[in-house]
Amino acid sequence: MTEPFDADVAIVGYGPTGLIAALTLAKYGISTLAFERHREIYPRARAVTVNDWTMRIFQSLGVDEPVLKTIDPQRALRWVRYDGTELMRIEHPPSTLGIKPRFFNIYQPTMEATLRECAQARSQIDVRYGSELVALQQDAMGVTVTTRDLASGQTATSRVRYVIGCDGGSSTTRNLIDVQLTGDTLDVLWIVIDCNVKRWWPDRNLLTFWSDKERPVVDIALSGGNHRWELPLKPGETEADFATQDEVWPLLEALGVTRDDVQIHQHAFYRHHVRMANTWRRGRVFLAGDAAHLMPPWAGAGMQSGMRDAFDLGWKLAGVLNGKLPERFLDTYETERRPNVEHFTNLAVQLGRIIKQELGEEEQAALNAPLPPGVEPPLIAPPTLSCGWLRGPVADDSIVGRMIPQPAVGDNRGVMERLDALLGDGFVLLGDDCDPAAHLSPQEKAGWDALGARYIAVRQQDAYTHGSDELIDLDVVLRPWMQRYGVRIVAVRPDKFVAASDVGGLAVPA
Ligand SMILES: Cc1cc2nc3c(=O)[nH]c(=O)nc-3n(C[C@H](O)[C@H](O)[C@H](O)COP(=O)(O)OP(=O)(O)OC[C@H]3O[C@@H](n4cnc5c(N)ncnc54)[C@H](O)[C@@H]3O)c2cc1C
Repeated sequence: MTEPFDADVAIVGYGPTGLIAALTLAKYGISTLAFERHREIYPRARAVTVNDWTMRIFQSLGVDEPVLKTIDPQRALRWVRYDGTELMRIEHPPSTLGIKPRFFNIYQPTMEATLRECAQARSQIDVRYGSELVALQQDAMGVTVTTRDLASGQTATSRVRYVIGCDGGSSTTRNLIDVQLTGDTLDVLWIVIDCNVKRWWPDRNLLTFWSDKERPVVDIALSGGNHRWELPLKPGETEADFATQDEVWPLLEALGVTRDDVQIHQHAFYRHHVRMANTWRRGRVFLAGDAAHLMPPWAGAGMQSGMRDAFDLGWKLAGVLNGKLPERFLDTYETERRPNVEHFTNLAVQLGRIIKQELGEEEQAALNAPLPPGVEPPLIAPPTLSCGWLRGPVADDSIVGRMIPQPAVGDNRGVMERLDALLGDGFVLLGDDCDPAAHLSPQEKAGWDALGARYIAVRQQDAYTHGSDELIDLDVVLRPWMQRYGVRIVAVRPDKFVAASDVGGLAVPA
């Protein structure tokens, strides 16, 4: 007899990570119960950017259009000394992921509000605001979640198959499953000043890192007419010295910002963390986002990493719950996401050293050295998977682990769309001017069939289509991309990473 469950998955915490987890599971028809302690969205701005990878996730979840209305393009990044010397500049080349532009400035509370509105329209998502997690008990079949209603003080239990703890840096979920968050918290206290813009000023839309040993400053235009400065307090300065806006103003005035330019909206204090949970899973309970890892803000990747965790875990959990993927597939969540988060954490630490002027001469020279042709700075390089559910080597000359570009394509009905709209949400094998199924052994084909894969031939721009299993490479991007890596067939996962190719072997990865 099937046990009655209140929902398939409980999501603890309904910040950016919890929202993306709920939206991803809903997309695949999985029901969720989300518990969020606070009724109102956390009002401080916190995260400031999203990039094309995150926007492609939004696109997949059908929330990109409303989000796009609330965010602004980011022009470029620059690291500048107070004497005007520009230490480094990163221009944003066009995205290969089918997103324009490549980087955006956001206002986190507005983005969260937009995502909540989108989620409200999904019947699979049931949110219990004002309700906090207090206990978890798991067994072979599922998890019993105990929550407390903060208004009445009453507790209630819910029965679910899996739990995702998206409850932030002080995660109750993490504590309840007895997982440690190891690493460091840096001593320096930073003040974050959020302002409403009163007039435009030159280069306001350049994300500027004022690089200095004593007073490095982040200076960034946020969307919706907001602007942010982040500064470290000097030794001897405390929160109490900046209790009022009158006490905060001299910090901005020292940067040349005047009361004609902005009005201070709010200010807050925070410390940077470099911390990671020692495991991201205990049985049926997973950790995602800040509950699993905390990094300094310099790579703009904290919130985005949480959203990517949620998306990754979401499609995998949905596959397991829908009976299409084996339970052990869930192990790939941490295997794949942990190295990616470590990469961005290390990058954030290194970028922090530039802004704090901690680089030695050799390191600075290496930084200024031109990159080999075709190689992009790590901060803006296209997403890759370094390990996980992949077959074949992950290397500079290998297509495996790379995210497939998203050009415009056409189909046999004459529809012209971005690639993802025509590929769908499952596994797809693409053949360069060939039927990929014809190149598989019966065992290989059976393996992909079991995952519900589609088989699509990609034809050149001036070809005729003959059936619904063909796409035209309208932008002349897909076939040259495959040819660059010497492959004729690629197997693409639901998250648009290449899992296998005819070069490394097309058997379904182990
Ligand atoms: C100053 C600053 C600047 C930043 N800049 C960037 C940036 O540029 N780019 C970037 O990507 N990231 C940035 N970040 C990080 C980013 O804001 C966080 O990584 C992101 O908010 C984490 O999302 P989350 O959903 O995992 O956690 P949170 O946003 O912390 O959400 C957790 C939610 O869980 C709820 N909750 C907690 N405990 C319970 C419980 N027991 N029961 C029920 N609910 C619970 C909380 O109320 C909260 O709503 C910055 C952070 C700071 C502080």
